[in-house]
Parts: sequence; structure tokens; C-alpha cells
Amino acid sequence: MRLLATIEEARGVRRELRAAGKTLGLVPTMGALHAGHLSLVHAALAACDAVVVSIFVNPTQFGPHEDLERYPRDLDGDSRMLQKAAVAFVFAPSPAEMYPAGSSCFVEVPALSERLDGASRPGHFRGVATVVAKLLLIVQPERVFFGQKDAAQVAVLKKMVRDLNFDVAFEVCPIVREPDGLAYSSRNRYLSPDERRQALVLSRALDGVRRLAAGGERRSAALAEKAMSTLAEEPAVRLDYFAIVDPETLEAVSEARPGTLAAVAAFVGVTRLIDNVVL
Ligand code: AMP
Repeated sequence: MRLLATIEEARGVRRELRAAGKTLGLVPTMGALHAGHLSLVHAALAACDAVVVSIFVNPTQFGPHEDLERYPRDLDGDSRMLQKAAVAFVFAPSPAEMYPAGSSCFVEVPALSERLDGASRPGHFRGVATVVAKLLLIVQPERVFFGQKDAAQVAVLKKMVRDLNFDVAFEVCPIVREPDGLAYSSRNRYLSPDERRQALVLSRALDGVRRLAAGGERRSAALAEKAMSTLAEEPAVRLDYFAIVDPETLEAVSEARPGTLAAVAAFVGVTRLIDNVVL
């Protein structure tokens, strides 16, 4: 496995692979890797000749009072995991490499970026869209892989790729959960044992909504009521949003249809967790 720290090294790899006629897959991550990330890696390995996993805790997607400094970083552990998975390239640039002094251009995806997580985290999706655009331009993969876990991010980035004509296949992989239902997240390692137990209410609430919808209930108000009553079982969990939305526009719908997204975000202690289900 080769660890690439500079944009020039990453471009060199792209040139080598292109000359050899090989296809390249990119898996963008912020590191602190877990089984959710690995599922993306395996999907990429299955679909492409070579895979680049990027590890970059992107400062522009964190708000001023968020956890940028505290965000878990473990490049050695991540590298071991990726080496074991037979990944050929890890691109782990420094913040100064990605945003040299004076760098001032950003990618904006209007409207979508102000919905769901974008409403709670102003500027978040501007940072996400910018860093993913940069990674796509640097690595120029044939395919790029994202997790359904970040459903709003998927909507924002799909729109960016479409509107700006990025020449890349956009792949979305299902949410990977721990056996008790908690969706894997790098932020789960912030949780105390008590909070870890409380956090299960998110997947429990979504599963209740999924079952109610599968039984024929379409009214979003009734589905939301079900979610709220489950979420109330853990009063220490502070709801940020629960929403039933169109997965592409992220706009609320009054009636669920197949493909409608039920999404939740909540603070467990100081840790903000997100989860969702496609109905
Ligand atoms: P992050 O490191 O949190 O930026 O996540 C990198 C990629 O992994 C994103 O596309 C996420 O949606 C995806 N991801 C994170 N957690 C999961 C999970 N539990 N299941 C599937 N994909 C995930």
C-alpha cells in the first residue's frame, strides 16, 4: 500500500494507472475507519482495478463550535486496516496541502445545502461539496463511493456531480449497523456506555417507522408521530430533526412513497448522531 501525502503524488498515481489502462475507484473518508467505511472499500475493490481511500478531516465542513479539533484521528490504525483490505493507495493530505494560504474558491449547492443537516450546520455542505470536488479533480476516479448513512450528503453531492458534469459514476452503499442496530459512525467512539445504550433509540425509531410504512401507513404525520413516541423513550436524547423527505430534493413530503427517506439527527450527550431509512 502506498501512502500519498501530496496532490502531485496522487496525480502521479492517476497518470500511472491511466497509462496501464486501469480503472480507479475513490472512497472519500475522514478516517477513524470502521465497518461502514470498509463496506465502501469492498464495493470499490469489487468494481475497480485499483482503489484510493482518501483520509482527510476537512476543516471547511466543520462549524466554529463543532468537533474539528477533537475529531478522532488514527492514520496508523486506518492504514493497517486498509492494508489488510488490500487497498493500493491511501491519500492523506495535510490541511495546508488541500487549502494552501490564499485558497478562496468554494462549491455551493444552493437549496439542498440548507436542508436537514445543512439547516443545523450552516456552511457544512459547502465544505463537503468543495472538498469532494477537489478530491474528484485530483484523483479523477472512474467511480466514487459514498454511504447512504449520510443521505443528505448523497443528495447534495449527486446534484453537484450532475450540475458540474463530473465524469464519474456515483455509487451509494447501504448503511452498515452494529448487531444491535446502531449505525457505525466515527463519532460513536465519543459515547459513554450509557450514551451508547441511549443512542439505540435512533435506529429503533426508524425501524418502527419502516414497519408502520411497510404495513401500509403513508401519511407522514402518522409516521412522524410513531417516531416521536419512540424517541421520547430516551428523554436524554435531544432531537435535532426528524424528517420525512424526498431523497433527491430533501423537501418534506406529506405522503410517503417507495423510496421516501425518513431521517433523524439527535444529540446524545454532546455527540450529534444521524441515521435514516429508505421507506
Ligand atoms: P466519514 O468518514 O464520516 O466522512 O464517512 C466517509 C464515508 O463513509 C461517507 O460516504 C459515509 O456516508 C460513509 N459511512 C459512514 N458510516 C457508514 C455506515 N455506517 N454505513 C455505510 N457507510 C458509512
